[in-house]
Amino acid sequence: MRYDDSPPPPESASSVSPDRPWFARRPALAVALAALAPTCLAGWVLTQVLSGPGSGAPQPAGARLAAASPAAAADGKPSASPSRPPAAAPAAAPAKGPLTGRTVVIDPGHNTGNFKHGREIDRQVDIGTNRKECDTTGTTTNSGYMEAEFSLNVAHRARTLLEAKGAKVVLTHDGERPWGPCIDERARIGNEAAADAVVSVHADGASAGNRGFHVILPARVKGGAADTAKIVGPSRDLGERLASNFARTTGSSPANYLGSGTGLVVRDDLGGLNLSTRPKVFIECGNMRDDKDAAQLTSPEWRQKAAQGIADGITGFLGG
Ligand code: ZN
Repeated sequence: MRYDDSPPPPESASSVSPDRPWFARRPALAVALAALAPTCLAGWVLTQVLSGPGSGAPQPAGARLAAASPAAAADGKPSASPSRPPAAAPAAAPAKGPLTGRTVVIDPGHNTGNFKHGREIDRQVDIGTNRKECDTTGTTTNSGYMEAEFSLNVAHRARTLLEAKGAKVVLTHDGERPWGPCIDERARIGNEAAADAVVSVHADGASAGNRGFHVILPARVKGGAADTAKIVGPSRDLGERLASNFARTTGSSPANYLGSGTGLVVRDDLGGLNLSTRPKVFIECGNMRDDKDAAQLTSPEWRQKAAQGIADGITGFLGG
């Protein structure tokens, strides 16, 4: 993964520009109204004017509600996010459904703050079979959309879909940390949650022309704290279901640059897999460095399809 990416300025979730002309006119308007109205009415008018549009003004109220949604805020485009609708935003009782009683851990790859914490994320951690960097910055599209932003957004969308089926969903991080977590902690979160399934969400940074998605399955490894003997089989089942559902919901093809067209790759060098004691896979949803793939990865509508494929794959694996 690249370390020299210059991330874009963060997108703002709030859109206040429609208010600006109105506020700019406010003093003159207030003075004019005060001069024309009887004294008692002028006070009321001034109060209304100076307190801004009331709650009946649909756009600001809607924008505030939508911005309160984590999924919407991650998008930077509140109205474009179909997940976590405002009515469902408060922490309500979990839905009852086919996944009630099951725990899913979604691991959003990287962290948008990692690039500012090179020393911390370069620190070597023990992955059982080896030592490896705590975390990496991840990649970006050529226009600067960060993999870490993509992965967290898809994780939010998948969480909403899985919670609607009754699952308890744990994220390894939710954008609340300045960097990380380290890969060993990411694995530990899944283990300690006794997750029934863990999916790490990523997008690749290969050269242009390399297209499509692939799912990474744990190899059988043993060394130190790493012993994947028990998870290799169920993780393959999870990964195959993820790949087939992802292809169906997104219309994407398996990667054309590895995996021999199966969309499945086995790796023994990823700490997040080696240290997992729960069924776990990574999904690389596309190649951020290919413009055609990037057009999909930057589309909120496509990300919803990606999240649907991930949630459907997990649901199938869990028998829901
Ligand atoms: Zn990644």
